Formats: sequence, structure tokens, C-alpha cells
Amino acid sequence: IEYSNRYFAGNHEALVAKLRGALSDFRFEHVLRVEAKALEFAEHLGVKDFEQVSVAALVHDYAKERSAEEFQQVIVAKHLDPDLLNWGNAIWHGVVGAEMIHDELQVTDEDILNAVRRHTTGDVFMTTLDKIIYMADYIEDGRDFPGVDEVREVTFNNIDEGVAWQTGHTLNYLMAKQALIYPKTILTYNAWVAQK
Ligand code: GDP
Ligand code: FE
Ligand code: FE
Ligand code: FE
Repeated sequence: IEYSNRYFAGNHEALVAKLRGALSDFRFEHVLRVEAKALEFAEHLGVKDFEQVSVAALVHDYAKERSAEEFQQVIVAKHLDPDLLNWGNAIWHGVVGAEMIHDELQVTDEDILNAVRRHTTGDVFMTTLDKIIYMADYIEDGRDFPGVDEVREVTFNNIDEGVAWQTGHTLNYLMAKQALIYPKTILTYNAWVAQK
């Protein structure tokens, strides 16, 4: 894929090299599979801006392997919502990770940064780019969990139904292990899954 430097000051190979440097091999390979799946969705949905989809997919887990101390420093230094300090890597790598992507990779496109911010919890309102990254992350070819083939089919037929499927199943999974539920996860569930 040819980059025009609209979203990243370098070519595709240069951005891939940044991710290879930031991540372990297994997560770097996940990121490449998310990019492939996201571009598949973009083509399927008639989304024109492949470059924006590619950059969002490549950077979505950029901060995933950073230490708790680094995330805490950024939350304090950039005056992010102090409640974030009560959470952990699962929530930080998207919301706080977007700040690191902005500051360290000079990716300033708000649509890309929002897709990163929303990729773990989803959100009440999601753009097509947000949905593509949220779903590609969940059903990339390396993922294996009960129902993965069903959600792949559902998502290719209707991406909104895929978003609802993931949101419902993730909340069930988190509750089954009595994990702390981030409030936005519940707001996403109410918007996409719950019936009045
Ligand atoms: P990954 O970064 O590619 O592994 O995928 P995600 O960023 O989508 O998710 C990271 C982890 O966060 C997964 O294990 C999710 O199940 C988990 N997660 C999603 N929502 C919540 C939440 O509300 N609370 C907690 N504790 N974990 C969550
Ligand atoms: Fe992630
Ligand atoms: Fe995700
Ligand atoms: Fe991911």
C-alpha cells in the first residue's frame, strides 16, 4: 500500500518498522493481521481511504507493551481524566496509547486517534473507521475463540451486527471472570446490545 504522507511522515515500510520496534513478535504479527483484515473490510464496505485504515490498524496496539509507570506519567502530565489511574493496561493502551501515538509517531489525525481510543471498549457513537478497527482486532485470522467463525460471518454481512456481537460477548466474558467493567464498556453495551 502506497502512503501519501497524509497521516504519517514516512512510507508504509517505515511505519511497520516503528511497530516492529515497539512490540514483541507475536503482537507485531497480530498488528499485521489486523491491518490485513481492516483493509479487507474497507474494500468490502467501499471505504475509499485505505491509507487511513492502514495507519489506524498498524498503530492500534502501539502502546500495549508499555509499563504501568509510563501510562501513569502520561495521564498526569497530559491532565487526562484522573479516574484512568484506577484502571490498567487493557484500558490504558487505547485511551492513553492514543496520546503516545500522537506524541511519538506524530500521527495527528483525530479519526485515527479516536479509532485507537475506542478499539477496546467500543463507544456509543462509532464511525465506520472505528467499527473497522474494533472488528478487525477481534476477528483477525489469528483469533480463535468459541463463535469466531459465526462472528466473522455476521460481521461481513453487517458490520453493525458484528459490533453488537463483540460487545455482548466481551461483556459476558468479562463478567464470567468477575473482571472490573469500564463504564464505557457498559455504555457501549446499552447502545448496541440492550433492548428497551
Ligand atoms: P488486544 O489489545 O488486541 O488484545 O485487544 P483489545 O484492545 O480489544 O482488548 C484488550 C483486553 O481488554 C481484552 O482482554 C478485553 O477482553 C479487555 N477488556 C475490554 N473491555 C474491558 C473492560 O471493560 N474491563 C476490563 N477489565 N477489560 C476489558
Ligand atoms: Fe488492543
Ligand atoms: Fe478490540
Ligand atoms: Fe489488538
